[in-house]
Amino acid sequence: MPLTLYVDGPRWSRHLDAVRDAHPGIVPVLKGNGYGFGLERLAERSAELGVDTLAVGRYEEVAAAAGRFDGSVLVLTPWRPFETRAAYGDHVVHTVGRLEDLRALAGREHRPRVVLERLTSMRRHGFSAAGLREAAGLLGGVTLDGVAFHLPISAGSHLTEVDRLMTDVVAAGLPTRRVYVSHLGPGEVEALRRTWPDYELRPRIGTGLWLGARDTLAARATVLDAHAVERGDVYGYRSRTAPAAGTILVVSGGTAHGIGLEAPTGGATLRDRAARVAKGGLDAAGFVRSPFTVGGKLRLFAEPPHMQASMLFLPAGAPAPRVGDEVDVRVRFTTTTFDQTVVSGAAG
Ligand SMILES: *Cc1c(COP(=O)(O)O)cnc(C)c1O
Repeated sequence: MPLTLYVDGPRWSRHLDAVRDAHPGIVPVLKGNGYGFGLERLAERSAELGVDTLAVGRYEEVAAAAGRFDGSVLVLTPWRPFETRAAYGDHVVHTVGRLEDLRALAGREHRPRVVLERLTSMRRHGFSAAGLREAAGLLGGVTLDGVAFHLPISAGSHLTEVDRLMTDVVAAGLPTRRVYVSHLGPGEVEALRRTWPDYELRPRIGTGLWLGARDTLAARATVLDAHAVERGDVYGYRSRTAPAAGTILVVSGGTAHGIGLEAPTGGATLRDRAARVAKGGLDAAGFVRSPFTVGGKLRLFAEPPHMQASMLFLPAGAPAPRVGDEVDVRVRFTTTTFDQTVVSGAAG
């Protein structure tokens, strides 16, 4: 019995189209668990969106994407000499951020396609301004596809920083006008287009595209079992005793799905805890809030999640759902492995 991702197909599709239309030159990003949808599905959707390029996180993900998508596949993690799984087909675009890597790639046959990454205030990967100028002299054995900036996800404006980075690109005299940017707002991209009209700006977007319309998505777990307990009854891997009468509800979804413990309920200080013990609340029994909603309320874990299922405690009086019913579960899509995805409507 599964943990299911439900997608309102027609509305999700309309959202994807709208994001594409609002971001000319968009490069969809798919990586990891495919933002909860899976890499193959997102590669297929990217093809349907009509884009010429998509981006994956790692070389291991190239095959899944390229199987469903005919265009270019940009690998976001920079190429390294130890990267034994790197694919070198014409569809693959390598990200390069160090001179020694550029030299090594330039020594390969078939002129690998490369994007030169300029280090930003993120300080994750990329060339310094001087490094970029030096890289411009090492392009003999590669095909330069563009440069890239990966900005931090910050509330403030990136424009001052990006203007400085663009100046570095111009100063390097690179034979390309294409710049891939990550985590710029649409207004920022528009402003940069006005400032740098000769350049082709390509926004790389994952979360805002795939997960930007949360109300078209729902995660639900299936009720697998329900056991009435009296206060003092023993249950669970840890042989705990029920602090009150109620129901132990077993639902699908555990650590293997990425279901984790939520923060403890209420305040975490000793004083808070003492107050809760005095009130005799269930969380005083050490129960921790779960991401599962039953009867409109987030319920407590009866014990930490198991590998594929979770045990919840429903106090007496709370209506217990039946075996086979589904309950809502709050998930982080980027860390959740669903058992199945159900897309409604023909357009899904
Ligand atoms: C993951 C990633 C993105 C996409 O990030 P979202 O926040 O999901 O839009 C863009 N650029 C780089 C370099 C990334 O690693």
